[in-house]
Amino acid sequence: MALQAAVSLVNSAEEPDTMASVADLDAYFEEFAYTGRHRRTQDELAEVRVLRPTLRGLLTADRDDAVRQVNVLLARHHAVPRLVRHDEMDWHLHAVDDEQPLATRIAVETAMAMIDVIRTDEMSRLDVCADDDCNGVVLDLSRNRSRRFCSTTCGNRNAVAAYRARQADRV
Ligand SMILES: [Zn+2]
Ligand SMILES: [Zn+2]
Repeated sequence: MALQAAVSLVNSAEEPDTMASVADLDAYFEEFAYTGRHRRTQDELAEVRVLRPTLRGLLTADRDDAVRQVNVLLARHHAVPRLVRHDEMDWHLHAVDDEQPLATRIAVETAMAMIDVIRTDEMSRLDVCADDDCNGVVLDLSRNRSRRFCSTTCGNRNAVAAYRARQADRV
């Protein structure tokens, strides 16, 4: 969930930018079931937007570089893992306080999620979209690792292009 949220946030920077207003941030907060402090201000939005290149760098890094970035993020935000249980969720880890800014919590949650990806050597599940004009990040959680595009939009566009190319070959 934290990884999907991070990928979604990073991909919101692709044109057209879909993290452009406080309402966009509200929708993101709801979609990924964030809890804790949510200020709904332009400052908070700006902090979350500024985080995008950092997360992009982390999600697209090679394994050893990702380790370095995770360690930097955890140290910078003084992450201290503890088990918590709240709302409908059973015991799970939080590494920063709920009162920390949303951008800080997103950064640390992404770093915590990346720990598992790195430890299980599953970095290959993260890649850049196979569309030539898209830099979106792809998170492939499918069993047969078939996912190549960041969105159905990119997938469909390429399916259509491939179909046209086959038709053209026949003429
Ligand atoms: Zn929680
Ligand atoms: Zn794409």
